[in-house]
Amino acid sequence: MIALSLLNDYLYCPRRAALKIVEGWRSANAHTARGDLVHEHADLVGYEVVKGVTLLRALPVWSERLGLNGKCDIVEQRADGSHCPVEFKLGQRRKWVNDEVQLCAQALCLEEMFGRSVPCGAVFHADSKRRREVDFTVELRRQTELTARQLHELLTPGRVPPAVYKPACEECSLFQTCLPKATGEDGRATRLAKQLFQT
Ligand code: SF4
Repeated sequence: MIALSLLNDYLYCPRRAALKIVEGWRSANAHTARGDLVHEHADLVGYEVVKGVTLLRALPVWSERLGLNGKCDIVEQRADGSHCPVEFKLGQRRKWVNDEVQLCAQALCLEEMFGRSVPCGAVFHADSKRRREVDFTVELRRQTELTARQLHELLTPGRVPPAVYKPACEECSLFQTCLPKATGEDGRATRLAKQLFQT
């Protein structure tokens, strides 16, 4: 089983997901610290009923088929027994495919666990306090399943992808340990290593 939140990391940067799974690297930066604050309430296991909808907080979920497990920030359980996962994210209301894939993975887990269809979910954007509905289309489901397979392939020995410096690296909490400018293909450390045994 792999944590389904790593699907989000994989789509951000496959090396980031590999460093977390294979090397066990974890680091915090301002973004992760703010993310932790956003999740503070949703991380408290429990439930409440609001306007006839039961809100299940920090619900553990898993899928044997996809080899994923994790938890949903909130699952709304309607009177008819249907479920709708809601994921809390930092930032303004904006479509990010990595957030949608993470949410869709939660839906696939819920479908396997409860044996009923989960057609849509939502991302709650903390900064703008706005909610964005996400339909779990055939395409999004396919992309989620493909990403889950790619994530499992990272566990094959020697599959940690090399660093490739890009703008997203500046926001990455692993920047200080990954050192993409130095260790990337065109990085200084790589160039120096190649020259080491040249005559
Ligand atoms: S610093 Fe860049 S290359 Fe390294 S893990 Fe983060 S996003 Fe990926």
